[in-house]
Amino acid sequence: MGFTSRIVHSDRQDQIEHGSIHKPIHTTVTYAYEDARELAAVFQGREFGYSYGRQTNPTVTALQNKISVMENGSATVAFSTGMAAIGSTLFSLLQRGDHLISSSYLFGNTNSLFSSFATHGIEVSLVDATSVDAVASEIRENTKMVFVETIANPRTQISDLQRIGDLCKDHQLVYFIDNTMTTPYLFQPKNVGASLSINSLTKYIGGHANALGGAVTELNNYDWSSYSNIYDIYKGGDSSSWAITQIKKKGLRDFGAALGPEAAHHISVGSDTLALRMDRACSNAKKITDFLSGHRSIKRLYYPGLQNHPENELAQTLFRHPGAIFSVELNNLDCFDFLNKLRLVICSSNLGDTRTLGIPVAHTIYSEMGRKRRLEMGIQDSLVRFSIGIEEAGDLIADFDQALAS
Ligand SMILES: *Cc1c(COP(=O)(O)O)cnc(C)c1O
Repeated sequence: MGFTSRIVHSDRQDQIEHGSIHKPIHTTVTYAYEDARELAAVFQGREFGYSYGRQTNPTVTALQNKISVMENGSATVAFSTGMAAIGSTLFSLLQRGDHLISSSYLFGNTNSLFSSFATHGIEVSLVDATSVDAVASEIRENTKMVFVETIANPRTQISDLQRIGDLCKDHQLVYFIDNTMTTPYLFQPKNVGASLSINSLTKYIGGHANALGGAVTELNNYDWSSYSNIYDIYKGGDSSSWAITQIKKKGLRDFGAALGPEAAHHISVGSDTLALRMDRACSNAKKITDFLSGHRSIKRLYYPGLQNHPENELAQTLFRHPGAIFSVELNNLDCFDFLNKLRLVICSSNLGDTRTLGIPVAHTIYSEMGRKRRLEMGIQDSLVRFSIGIEEAGDLIADFDQALAS
């Protein structure tokens, strides 16, 4: 079955409560047991069940299962945000003295998080991940993990995902892909050998900017019995579940960034239309970038769907569509004035919304890191990023046209 057929029926694959088509919102923190022995069995992991809302909730479990279906993975743990998913997962799997390789082109807060890890005794190397050789050259004795994004925000560089996967396999490294910008509809991290995939559910998967959430999914490409940081207590049963169990305990339970049932419900309903929204948003992005290419007010345009993009070929082989994010540098036009002239496009920091959003990145989401680091990432002061929504393409083009003309 196709992507959407599978996910819109995923709630009903388990027991249907009163025939409810949507998994009900279970607004409870705790769960009562008539048999105290059963509660003990749940606590010890001998039986599946619910104990306390910080670890599990039936509405959240239904969403986790849906994400596993999307990612073709075996298990998913949801968190309150995408950052909580990244931070809690890496905290669970890395120890002092370990080395992590990641990309120089990273989501701003992930970049900031990794610099905190560096102060806590985990070595971090940031390399140009569009080149597998750059990643390979940083591998050391203590390298444990490679973490990359699919399409980088805001300059749209694309990691060499397949070759990095092959490299990680050769060196037995955990391969972690942040799939937020592409979503499992455009790209399946499992197919390039990723060990774990992470999604900010706040963005395209929820899709309507009405709930925060994050998730990490086990993709069964890594043999965790050869990973030295798994605690003995989590080594029960099949080794394919060891890492996700440790993430659930050391990450979710101990850090406590649990996803609430209402947010899980919003995200689940939103995710039903993920494929439809992505098809539309990506098609819009293509039409708008075709219009903007060569426009006299546009100095540079960064979109992986354009032939002059350095990773255009990579985008074509890896992704169903080249995404719905692009960024521009302007000619003789102030980026603030340009954004203020746009009427339909909203000036806002989010991405992956149904509505088209634009933001002057150097002055907002990347302001904290400073100009030097920004320039290393290819972010000029005039750069404006757009996250294209699902409006009619003609209306968006007309808006860009009038804002650039005036
Ligand atoms: C937004 C985003 C995150 C963080 O997600 P939140 O839900 O906002 O915490 C992580 N990675 C990427 C690529 C993102 O775009």
